[in-house]
Amino acid sequence: MGRVIFIGAGPGSADLITLRGARRLGEADVVLFDALVDPALREFAPQATWVHVGKRGFCDSTGQTTINALLLKYACEGNTVVRLKGGDPSVFGRLEEELGALAQAGVPCEVVPGVTAALAAAAATQRPLTRRGSGRSLSLSTAMTRSGDLRATRSADTEVFYMAGKQLAGLSRQLLLAGWPPQTPALVVSRAGWPDELHSDHTIDTLARASMLHAGRPAVVTVGAGAQALAVEPPLVADAMPTLGENPGEAVKSLALP
Ligand code: SAH
Repeated sequence: MGRVIFIGAGPGSADLITLRGARRLGEADVVLFDALVDPALREFAPQATWVHVGKRGFCDSTGQTTINALLLKYACEGNTVVRLKGGDPSVFGRLEEELGALAQAGVPCEVVPGVTAALAAAAATQRPLTRRGSGRSLSLSTAMTRSGDLRATRSADTEVFYMAGKQLAGLSRQLLLAGWPPQTPALVVSRAGWPDELHSDHTIDTLARASMLHAGRPAVVTVGAGAQALAVEPPLVADAMPTLGENPGEAVKSLALP
């Protein structure tokens, strides 16, 4: 019997994986990876067979069943299997289904955390998610229900919405219905953690205007206290991403595996 290691790859460039994640990747015989994972991470596991099981948006139950079956198959063949997920595996990552399938078969598992998109968006824009006095609570939400409807809440001072990039007009309406004041700051960040990250500032009632700018890109929407620009905004470093040159994976490898 092999084992399965779930690793959060982080939200963007390869150097956002944790040191532990990078080291565990090096132990893999097989890597099952998602669509949003940086291809440069392959350099941590050149020995492994890399299997793309990516999907964008909601994966149907067949897709998930196939992934569960593949995890089981490779583990039962005695392999060390890495399940590499974008961001953190525990945040909107269908982790419960995969852990459940493996637990039923008695396959030992480990979960290595990663940087979730909400945190990368906060870092990229230098907008702290909690604020002394005004931002005491944070919620990570999806506005999409299982049936594909949109539903928004007002459950924390700062709320970060995942998987709503295609439906910003609907999200704006739902947020107003949930009781958020129309002038509440709303920050949209797409491809946070990548060199081509984009962000734009709105209020809840004008959120739909962000649709064109971020079209076709994974985006999170931060609403409330954590979306507010700082009173004096520090100048953003033009290239906040570390410059890793031609071969980012190689640079990270030397960092992670001395
Ligand atoms: N497990 C992932 C989330 C997977 S759900 C994590 O922890 O980040 C996929 C959603 O995550 C996307 O629809 C988008 O809302 C968000 N997302 C993923 N990568 C992103 C990125 N680099 N920038 C902004 N949002 C991202």
